[in-house]
Amino acid sequence: MKDIDLDELLKEININAFQNDLINWFQNEQRMLPWRENQDPYRIWVSEIMLQQTKVDTVIPYFLNFMDKFPTISYLAEAQEQEVLKAWEGLGYYSRARNLQQAVREVATTYNGKVPSNPKQLADLKGIGPYTKGAILSIAYDIPEPAVDGNVMRVLSRILRIEEDIAKPKSRRIFENIVVEIISQDNPSSFNQGLMELGALVCTPKSPSCMLCPVQPHCKAFRDGVETQLPIKSKAKKQKKLAYYTFAISNEDGEYIIEQRPEAGLLASMWQFPMVLKEEVDEEHIMTWLEQKYGVSVTLDEVLKPIKHVFSHVIWEIDVIHLHVNENKAELNDARFVNINKIEQYPIPVPHQKLIEQLIDGK
Ligand code: SF4
Repeated sequence: MKDIDLDELLKEININAFQNDLINWFQNEQRMLPWRENQDPYRIWVSEIMLQQTKVDTVIPYFLNFMDKFPTISYLAEAQEQEVLKAWEGLGYYSRARNLQQAVREVATTYNGKVPSNPKQLADLKGIGPYTKGAILSIAYDIPEPAVDGNVMRVLSRILRIEEDIAKPKSRRIFENIVVEIISQDNPSSFNQGLMELGALVCTPKSPSCMLCPVQPHCKAFRDGVETQLPIKSKAKKQKKLAYYTFAISNEDGEYIIEQRPEAGLLASMWQFPMVLKEEVDEEHIMTWLEQKYGVSVTLDEVLKPIKHVFSHVIWEIDVIHLHVNENKAELNDARFVNINKIEQYPIPVPHQKLIEQLIDGK
């Protein structure tokens, strides 16, 4: 570590007292969450993947449903990818689900169905980054490994008054080195979870509850009155806006055309109504474009409510057009007609689920 002198930084903190205060608080105040019922590494793994970019309250029902459907490594390893995507539908960041299943399959075949406790083997599994690796090792296997996410960086920035920009990828390494020095060797699970829980419940981003904080006596930011100025976090770039047309194309049997997205990229392998970037087709050529692409001739029915959906890096702004098929001129190429009430059986991204709601409920 170049910029920060660890010895200097940790000189003022009583590490034993800090560990005790944090662990005692966690053991008394932790929320009862379904993945905390036991130390099953598979359950902890699934929960940590679901919790990336997603709030606890949102994750709970998905986690319970997922464990119901895929209670063990072998259930998930043997499931169809489409079933897994369906169970993930609405959580977003679907590559998480695909990577998880791929890694679980590797655990089933290479490690006899047992999640490895060897850091190198664990880190080599698809979708397991440094944070998830540390979380599984410490929570499931009681191994003192750091598990540093944005929450933990915020809490430690304040406690130790660190002014590194936590938005920069290289900062994580600094915080990992700190955790290596201060983690409890006796109870790394409660220590790491305590830091995360403190970030979620007490040392929150905008208004930390310092008066109720179990580690307040150790906190330099509180001592110096700068807790709301930390952490330093530079602003993320603005999301790019993409304008689309989406087509709800129905036949006289109440069926609509849906198609599968490509196997790679955003929302890979999920199903959707036909859509195209506005820059790729002029408004007056839409009918011809549809005819050529899907082999159907269509008549305009109505323009539906536009849909907006915000992903992490892009925003979709979708104009929705409802059309009727005049005649089926050919096979639908790679698309298919599906009854509106049965489309829900496919994994559908959230913006297209909003369209289904419009079509069914007239919302
Ligand atoms: Fe966070 Fe305040 Fe506790 Fe410091 S005293 S760790 S700033 S809640």
